[in-house]
Amino acid sequence: MDLYLGIDIGGTAVKLGLIDSQARLRARYEASVSFDAYKTPISQTVQTQARAFLQQEQLAPEDLRGIGVSATGQIDSVNGVVAGTCGNLPDWEQTPLKQQLETCFRRPVTVANDANCMCLGEGWAGRAVGCQNYLGITIGTGIGGGIVSGGHLIEGARGLGGEIGHIQTHAVTGRLCTCGGHGCWEQYASATALVKQAQALDPLLQNGRQVFAAIPANPALGHLLDDWIGEIAAGIVGLVHIFNPELILIGGGVSQQAERLILPLARQVKTAVMPAFARGLRLEAASLRNDAGMMGAVRYFMQQESL
Ligand SMILES: [Zn+2]
Repeated sequence: MDLYLGIDIGGTAVKLGLIDSQARLRARYEASVSFDAYKTPISQTVQTQARAFLQQEQLAPEDLRGIGVSATGQIDSVNGVVAGTCGNLPDWEQTPLKQQLETCFRRPVTVANDANCMCLGEGWAGRAVGCQNYLGITIGTGIGGGIVSGGHLIEGARGLGGEIGHIQTHAVTGRLCTCGGHGCWEQYASATALVKQAQALDPLLQNGRQVFAAIPANPALGHLLDDWIGEIAAGIVGLVHIFNPELILIGGGVSQQAERLILPLARQVKTAVMPAFARGLRLEAASLRNDAGMMGAVRYFMQQESL
């Protein structure tokens, strides 16, 4: 059976997995990419750790059918290059990941955006198995998105498509976004946006999990949560009207909040869309969590190979 290396490169860690053509994750490995405050370029750390992982598994690159990479940032998946970033990851923009890894391992490599990979992973081995029309929405530092329509991932001309976090839901008087625009959806509906607002009420709150834990004892936080869910719903309603999905999957750490996020969000979205769009529409938490990126990266590789 064919064996693939899945690599999921995030801003703080790289996750690696050996995945077979039946979507079985046979081994996994994780390492920091920020261990020396990025003095070592991320791409170099990825190569070093991938070698170490293969060695640990007693495999040579020739044992792999190929390598699928899921990467943070705007990814030109046609050329396998990091085309842009909104954050401040040093030495990341313009990294020719595909070329570097193909030179290093002498195996074919594909590179795609992490949110697009999450979406494909869920369709291959997660909650979207069997779905032809669905959205994957990752709520974290920002908002990432993947759109599968008619069974195909929508990537656009350069593979950059799906950056739904930068839909301008508050264009006229909106907050400045990391992309340089104003009023982007993720400035209002990301987990970071929730935490920032919550800190105005309680400066000790550091992350989404702490905010959710503090809600029962703090009614003001409850109101904040309601507003935040409204912001998330507003963006999703627009997407539902454009793509008419049968399923919307929510990923990111906050997606584990079934009672406080997923259920009320599903209700709001189904109430707010035009009735014909609500029929048969489901909104659920994604299921693969930390494995979604590398699973989807391998799925992307397999799809590209079969074109
Ligand atoms: Zn933006």
